[in-house]
Amino acid sequence: MFKSETKTEPCMVKQLPCVPMGCSACCRETTMPLTISEAKRLSRRTGMALESFTWENNGVLTLLNDETTRACVFLLTASAESSAEGICSVYEVRPEGCRKYPIVLNPKDEAILDDGCPHRAQFPTPSETDAIALLNLEERLMRK
Ligand code: SF4
Ligand code: SF4
Repeated sequence: MFKSETKTEPCMVKQLPCVPMGCSACCRETTMPLTISEAKRLSRRTGMALESFTWENNGVLTLLNDETTRACVFLLTASAESSAEGICSVYEVRPEGCRKYPIVLNPKDEAILDDGCPHRAQFPTPSETDAIALLNLEERLMRK
């Protein structure tokens, strides 16, 4: 998810607070969309079939959550607690939306820091370049 919502959303280890704070909140109950090429790259890298890590959310390919942990199927975690630690097992090939988070677009298509990130105050203010990158991503996500 790259549009602002109230609940937490995807991403992972950035150089900022993610690792020091042991945070994986955005990888839990994720609604992170991904392009078909990102999904195919993840499939090649993991050997998993697309259906085992994605579902279609209103026509947009979206990362699947594990039934037990309620976290992204790629998050290495044994806990369903939103405050528990976790590591992205596909960090090098994670979708662009995960890379950009907590930067998301607001309804005016401005780049903002999402309320769902508990440590958003420790991230730099998003720029116009971030907004353009997310708008380009949005266009690719809508393309079939
Ligand atoms: S792919 Fe990695 S960074 Fe993205 S939601 Fe899943 S675990 Fe988090
Ligand atoms: S919720 Fe925020 S601090 Fe936590 S892992 Fe995601 S981006 Fe990092």
